[in-house]
Amino acid sequence: MNFSDTSPLLARALAERQYSDPTPVQSAVLADAALNRDLVVSARTGSGKTVAYGLAFAPDILDTEGKMPAPAAPLALVIAPTRELALQVKRELEWLYAFAGAHIVACVGGMDPGLERKMLGRGAQIVVGTPGRLRDHIERRALDCSNLAALVLDEADEMLDLGFREDIEFILDATPAERRTLLFSATIPKGIAALAKRYQRDALRVEVAGGERGHSDIEYRAVRVLPREIEQATINLLRQAEAECAIVFCNTRESVRHLHATLQERGFSCVLLSGELSQHERNQSMQALRDGRARVCVATDVAARGIDLNNVGIVIHAELPHDSETLQHRSGRTGRAGRKGVSALLVPMARRGKAEAMLRDVGARAEWSGPPTADEIRKLDQERMLKDPLLAAEPEERDIELGRLLLAERSPEQLGAALVRLYRSRLPAPEDIADPGTGFSRDPRPHDTRDSRPQKFREGPFKDDRGPRPAFEDRGAQKPRKPGKERFPGNAVWFRLDIGRRKNADPKWLLPMLCRKGEIDKGDIGVINIMDTETRVEISQAVAERFALNIKRPGGENIRVERVNGDPKKAAPPAANGDAAPKKKPKQKYISKAEREAAK
Ligand code: ADP
Ligand code: MG
Repeated sequence: MNFSDTSPLLARALAERQYSDPTPVQSAVLADAALNRDLVVSARTGSGKTVAYGLAFAPDILDTEGKMPAPAAPLALVIAPTRELALQVKRELEWLYAFAGAHIVACVGGMDPGLERKMLGRGAQIVVGTPGRLRDHIERRALDCSNLAALVLDEADEMLDLGFREDIEFILDATPAERRTLLFSATIPKGIAALAKRYQRDALRVEVAGGERGHSDIEYRAVRVLPREIEQATINLLRQAEAECAIVFCNTRESVRHLHATLQERGFSCVLLSGELSQHERNQSMQALRDGRARVCVATDVAARGIDLNNVGIVIHAELPHDSETLQHRSGRTGRAGRKGVSALLVPMARRGKAEAMLRDVGARAEWSGPPTADEIRKLDQERMLKDPLLAAEPEERDIELGRLLLAERSPEQLGAALVRLYRSRLPAPEDIADPGTGFSRDPRPHDTRDSRPQKFREGPFKDDRGPRPAFEDRGAQKPRKPGKERFPGNAVWFRLDIGRRKNADPKWLLPMLCRKGEIDKGDIGVINIMDTETRVEISQAVAERFALNIKRPGGENIRVERVNGDPKKAAPPAANGDAAPKKKPKQKYISKAEREAAK
């Protein structure tokens, strides 16, 4: 089957976009059996459902000559769960109906309703919107549904999950009973089946094979991590994949904000998507991803539902989704439009069973491994650098001239090394992290990576790699350590790190980190004083300048290191409560836009 059966004006748009063959779900809705029928369609995400319903309702809205009638009261209405999705549908229908000359109006929460009313007033053939806003417009008589020939519910399962049932029923009741109703959903839970029964007539059920299963273009990976190394593991996965575009999922806005800040600090070009953004900010995030200014998007589930970016190479579940449907929705952001994608779950060992169950539910076979190591990434960097197109490109004459000038002063080795430095400086540094499946040097027990061991034992050694800890309530009462004696008396410079015992500061990893980032020797580090929320480190004066400079470079841990001014003894922690943390600025209370307006 090809698109020749569809209206010539739509076929032309498809050809221009080089969509030569319909996807399975498109073939199914274009088949004779589906003509003029109500449809309940389930097909996996990324299977081209938008074009499918765009083509399906074409005969309902085009005139007998295959032309679009003049814009008046809308003929087709598409309801989608989120602003982003609705705008995406609008864009997709816009190119599909470009030659047919359709006027398409979006009505979405968060946009100026007055402007939408104006657009609706001018007439349109297709309206796309979110349930709440559409209902508003109907109630205020800005949206006239009396002429509707077709109505589409896109991502219907998601709309019910988001609590839009009432709004949807209101809209359905406001439209002509003889309309065609097309229901699209990745899955068909009970609520959807009930909705279909009540509002559809003799609907044809279309289930495209693999509709509810995992999807073959997506490779699932399960990555063992220590709970406290989730951010580091995310960094290494991003660095390993070097995808054109990556989406990282967290479960809450707070974790999205934190991870986004960390990634940005490490030098990733990244944006965030979460419910707390204004429409304008969301648009900016999406635009940055589309035009490649940003390559990483950190998002919550709802904010990223249905997003269609064709070049997402990897989806990382920094936090495990709550259920397998969410896993499927998240993973569906990659492996789109025929490309391959990776869906990587970060799994703390205690959540292993849950991860396995969800993977089983979506029919995915996952490869289990530890996080990519810093060494693996450096090796990859090296290979990528040697193959960098910049080296293969035909040089321009004026560049050659400048090259000769550089060569006159320096050896080829020096120049080569400078190029390597330059190349490396553009890349966020990989993190040194552990694989909880293979054990740590600190744990004397050998750790087996296979799953054959009973669950209990599997989880045992991983739960705590720090040895026994006092019960939580005891920890705060710990006696503060006395400021240690200086190891370089008179020749020491003290630095303060904004991480303490509460965030697992431990010389075991602090020491190598300080050496690596500060480019100094272990012997240059004297006393390390760990307090509840901060740490003081004594550095030999001889290397202090260098250390201070190096430690500020981007591409390291998300830890602030600053010099302690004045007398180090005074600056050292008072013995009273062990914490000499500088007074923190009081946290600014979040003020909503409405409150701000009201205060004016
Ligand atoms: P779904 O709603 O099923 O998750 P989308 O409608 O968002 O999927 O489509 C995913 C991507 O596939 C879109 O970028 C779309 O333009 C593209 N696409 C749709 N139909 C075809 C086709 N026949 N050939 C190639 N790409 C297509
Ligand atoms: Mg869709």
